Amino acid sequence: MIKRIILTVIAMPLLVALNGCAAKKDMKEKVVYQDNKVIPSKILKEAKKALSYYPELENVHIEFKFKDNIKKSFMQAQPQLSNLFKGKNKRRYNIYISSKFVIEEEEVSMEEVPSEVLIGWLGHELGHIMDYREKTAAGLIIFGLRYITSSNYIKEAERAADTFAVTHGMGDYILATKDFILNNSSLSDAYKERIARLYLSPEEIIVLVNKLEEDLEKAESGG
Ligand SMILES: [Zn+2]
Repeated sequence: MIKRIILTVIAMPLLVALNGCAAKKDMKEKVVYQDNKVIPSKILKEAKKALSYYPELENVHIEFKFKDNIKKSFMQAQPQLSNLFKGKNKRRYNIYISSKFVIEEEEVSMEEVPSEVLIGWLGHELGHIMDYREKTAAGLIIFGLRYITSSNYIKEAERAADTFAVTHGMGDYILATKDFILNNSSLSDAYKERIARLYLSPEEIIVLVNKLEEDLEKAESGG
């Protein structure tokens, strides 16, 4: 009962804020993959590729859903609130994907987004799920509230997701995604500035990849 009240009072505005507009109609065809992933066939190839970098998520239930419009973003990962309190292992996650990529009235359609950019983007969202997985239900609620109220916290969360993707071997895809956003003339300067400010920069990604390679070499040479 108390949990239900907490869910209504705290989690509902959180859901609305993180969710942006309400979901309308998903694009029809969907495929079930690994018994617990629901993926629209339109992005099946890219989603499978991104998932292949995260063996830890094999037993995690994730639904990829198209949504008409997501505020300020192209994709969004979040835990399903209906089973938030059922324990970490029973938790399920949604990754929302905007069917049209509308940022401040500039429009880019899904078809215009290259495959490797989509893979990088999905890899970033799966990085968020890696981050959420370790948090308790209360931790996730605090996370949501901080995410809404603090731009420093957004920066921390987005960088954590990028870092998960890069350390899972997706550095090139993440770079392709950044490059697509930062060099896409049809996206507004305000959006590019937001991405540049909140996410790992291409330079930071390269530093991270180089460091990983160094560590790997050290480990291989037994040092
Ligand atoms: Zn993100």
